[in-house]
Amino acid sequence: MGLKIYINGQIVPQEDAKISVFDHGLLYGDGVFEGIRAYNGKIFTLDEHLDRLYDSATAISLKIPITKAEMAEAIKKTMKANNLADSYIRLVVTRGVGKLGLDPNKCATPQIIIITDTIELYPKALYEKGLDIVTVTTIRNHFSALDPKIKSLNYLNNILAKVESIQAGAGEALMLNKDGYVAECAGDNVFIFKNNILRTPPSSAGILVGITRNVVMKLATEMGVQVREELMTRYDLYIADECFLTGTAAEIIPVVKIDGRTIGTGKPGKLTLDLLKRYRDLTQNGR
Ligand code: PMP
Repeated sequence: MGLKIYINGQIVPQEDAKISVFDHGLLYGDGVFEGIRAYNGKIFTLDEHLDRLYDSATAISLKIPITKAEMAEAIKKTMKANNLADSYIRLVVTRGVGKLGLDPNKCATPQIIIITDTIELYPKALYEKGLDIVTVTTIRNHFSALDPKIKSLNYLNNILAKVESIQAGAGEALMLNKDGYVAECAGDNVFIFKNNILRTPPSSAGILVGITRNVVMKLATEMGVQVREELMTRYDLYIADECFLTGTAAEIIPVVKIDGRTIGTGKPGKLTLDLLKRYRDLTQNGR
C-alpha cells in the first residue's frame, strides 16, 4: 500500500522501516505501545494517550528519549506524510537493540515507531446487529505479575483469550480476573446498563484503563446517567438490560449475547445507541 513510517526520527517508505532482530521488543516483548485515532485530521484524546504511553514506559523503567510534545509533532508529521485525515495511529516504543538475555540495561536506545494506517475493527453491520461474546478460561493477568494498566508489547495474555473466542466462533473474549470477577475483553473494556445505571469494572479489577472508557463515563454522566465502577460477576452481565464494549478502534460496540444468553431484547440497546451517537458526535465534531 506504500505507507510512510516514522522510525527513530525519520520518515521512510514501509519497505525500509525495519528494526533489528536483536531489539528486545521482538525478543522479549519488552516495550510499550498505544493505539490512537484521528478523525477529520484531528487526533482524538492525544494527550490522554501520550500520558498513558509515558506512564506505561515509566512502569517498566523505560525512558522514552523524546518529550511528549516532540512525540505529538512526530505523529502529526507522519500523518501528513501519509495524507490521512481519518487514521489509526500505532505508536510503539521498544527497549531497543541489545544482547541476548533479559537485561534491559544492555539495550542502547529505545526505538520509536509510528505507523499511521486505516482500520475497521468490526464490520459496520455488527454495530447494528450487536456482538456475540464468550467468557474464556484464560484469566486476565494478575497485577502482581504484569499489571494490565501497562499497555506493553507483551500481549500474549490477550491473544490467548482471543484465540479461545475465535475457536468458539464468538466476536470477543470476556476475561475474568483471578478472583472470578469480570475484568475486560481481550482488546476492549466492558460496560452494562441495568435499571438505567451504567456499570463497569473498576481499575482494581485488573484492566487496561481505557481512554474510550473514560470518555464514555463522562458522556453518560452528561446524559444524566448514574455511572458506577464496581466489581461484577458473569451473572451481572447475563441479567443486564444492555451491554457494550469500548475501545479506540471499536469505539462503542453493542453486545447482544454472552455465553449463549441473550442480553436484553437481543438487539443493541437504546442507551447504548444514544451513547454511540454522542461518541461519534464528539469524535467527528469535537462535541
Ligand atoms: N482493554 C484492552 C486489553 C485493550 O487492549 C484496549 C485497547 N485496544 C482497551 C481495553 C481499550 O482501551 P482504549 O479505549 O484506550 O483504546
